[in-house]
Amino acid sequence: MKLKWKPKKLTLVIIPDANQSVVRFRIPHLFAYIAAACFSVLLLISIITYTLHANTVKAANDLQSKLNGASQQWNATLTSKNQTIEQLQNEVIQLSQQAEQMKAKVEEMKKLENDLKTIAQIDTGSSPTKDPVAIQNESGDNDSAQIGIGGSLNPVSQAEIMKLGEQTLASLSELDTEVKELQMSFTGTLQKVAVKQQQLRVTPTLWPTTTKVVTSSFGYRRDPFTYRPSFHSGIDFGAKENDPVFATADGRVVSTGTDRFHGNNIVIEHSKGLRTWYMHLNKILVNNGDNVEKGNTIGLVGSTGRSTGPHLHYEVLKNGESTDPRPYLKAVRKDD
Ligand SMILES: [Zn+2]
Repeated sequence: MKLKWKPKKLTLVIIPDANQSVVRFRIPHLFAYIAAACFSVLLLISIITYTLHANTVKAANDLQSKLNGASQQWNATLTSKNQTIEQLQNEVIQLSQQAEQMKAKVEEMKKLENDLKTIAQIDTGSSPTKDPVAIQNESGDNDSAQIGIGGSLNPVSQAEIMKLGEQTLASLSELDTEVKELQMSFTGTLQKVAVKQQQLRVTPTLWPTTTKVVTSSFGYRRDPFTYRPSFHSGIDFGAKENDPVFATADGRVVSTGTDRFHGNNIVIEHSKGLRTWYMHLNKILVNNGDNVEKGNTIGLVGSTGRSTGPHLHYEVLKNGESTDPRPYLKAVRKDD
């Protein structure tokens, strides 16, 4: 028996309208399968393509988003760095201003030290000092709000700031040395002042009475009793009876007593062979051997001994010889 392959066919019926005739298509089964297969493949390719596209878009978006985030972070870092650099630059400028102020203060201190030496009559040396420049504090202080500051805008470059920083460092190093030298110099001056002060304390520079009247100076004169030429070995102060008499320097009382020439009198020993002698006192207020300080009241003015009336005869003895007390007396009086 012979088998004959007879292809199966599908019939597609299209009915356009009730009044029109029906259209029939007869297509082989195989053709239908091929069409279905083609359609499936196309659908699969479309799905794969769409999925790939969607994934690509998502990856691109993610990347863009990451890029944006990184860019923002970078910008924020850059801004922060710029702010830090500006802050550091401002600090360098502020430090430089502080160094300048320090310089002015050191110069001021040098001048003060020289003034101190001048006052204490100590050798001022040869170090010249510049006049201190008054610099207003432009940094940080509350006062700065009240200080008028202005001018045109002149931005500075990084190189200029670096140079300023180096200069400031050099200035500070120099200042450090100067301050150390000044410290040593001050210590030396302090010692000299202390010595000078001690010398001054034992030098009879104080006026022995409160009066400003000198009735008879040191030197040759006519004797008030004999009217003959004579030598006056001291100064007479025209003080009133019982006015206080002051020790003219620190010292030790080496003699108190009375006689018909000097009346009640006191001798005080100071230093370097210097003694002072106070005569014609009404009253002696110290004892032999007492230590007295400059300005202490040691007696009262009187007219005892060879005297025409109340006054103080005051002498300065150098190595036992009477000398003019006037050069020792400064314009410093107990009541000044
Ligand atoms: Zn006299």
